[in-house]
Amino acid sequence: MDTGHINLLEIIGRDTKLKKAASTNGGEWAGPCPFCGGRDRFRVWPQPAGGKPRFWCRQCECSGDAIDYVMHRDNVSFHAACEN
Ligand SMILES: [Zn+2]
Repeated sequence: MDTGHINLLEIIGRDTKLKKAASTNGGEWAGPCPFCGGRDRFRVWPQPAGGKPRFWCRQCECSGDAIDYVMHRDNVSFHAACEN
């Protein structure tokens, strides 16, 4: 599946409130982490140059693309997978 056209910002925006944090690299958004509840260390890059949309939380260190996000969000064992 081509994840290049998925609007990651819109998908994650349904779960947590994101604010634009920077305009570099296609824009960077920040907000509370939907997974660990950390208040400000969750980042989303919906259109990074030369890459696919991705997210990363500096607190729980969960990261990935749009597919990963939906899988992780809907999988109750996600935290166990991240704690390594
Ligand atoms: Zn987190």
